[in-house]
Amino acid sequence: MSIRELHVRRLPADLFCPDGYLSVLRNAMSCEYAFVTYGEMAQCAGVPGRRCLLRHDVDVSLVFALEMARLEASSGVRSTYFFMLRSPAYNLMTRHAHRVLAEIVSLGHEVGIHFDAEHPSVDRNNLAACVYQEVDVLSKLAGATIHAVSFHQPSPYILQGTVYIDGLINTYNAVQMQGWYYLSDSNRQWKTADNAQTIFERTDLTRIQLLIHPMWWMCDEPDVGAVWDSAMVSNFEVMQRQFLETERAYGGRRSMFLRMSERCPEE
Ligand SMILES: [Zn+2]
Repeated sequence: MSIRELHVRRLPADLFCPDGYLSVLRNAMSCEYAFVTYGEMAQCAGVPGRRCLLRHDVDVSLVFALEMARLEASSGVRSTYFFMLRSPAYNLMTRHAHRVLAEIVSLGHEVGIHFDAEHPSVDRNNLAACVYQEVDVLSKLAGATIHAVSFHQPSPYILQGTVYIDGLINTYNAVQMQGWYYLSDSNRQWKTADNAQTIFERTDLTRIQLLIHPMWWMCDEPDVGAVWDSAMVSNFEVMQRQFLETERAYGGRRSMFLRMSERCPEE
């Protein structure tokens, strides 16, 4: 059954869960929005009808990103997943990440680079070259063309909207994103009166860029701290799975729980 055929339900009591996300997608479609990727933006120019750029910045968890990608694909929805090469939480060169990237691309989704411009190796005066370097690596890892860059935790410099990276859509570039209304679910907080459900019902909009972080929706823990803990535990489980499969010195399976260390490991 396609998502169009499903009865449009009202918002679940808690929007931030897989059912809530399905409800958001259904509502967008019932409001006659078509989902497009950043590679398809140029085709939207001057075309009548409603379009939504569905953007996922993958900060912490490949596991939740893949779950969301599957959920969307099962509903006939395509979106763009922005991955980090310098995430402190996942390594895009692991065997697990290789499988995740391959499946997300095979499901028909697009891949973009999620770039940490505050990383100490990044030279602001040579920002484009630094972005291209990561685009080159990511495109090879994903076996896909990269059309867009989104900046992780964008600084005021990025938010000025003037950074232009030739050959790429910068999701924070004011000229490139002109006409696209921006809404983000950062930390499960909406900064305006709109949320991911109601935004599609506004009659004054026809172009929406909706930033959805997969872990806030695919992990239905009640608060953001618990979501972080859950993501960290699942990252460890992924790590352990590979240890068990490939690292002969690791030994047997272990159970661990999260606790705060009194000191930083490097201190
Ligand atoms: Zn980010």
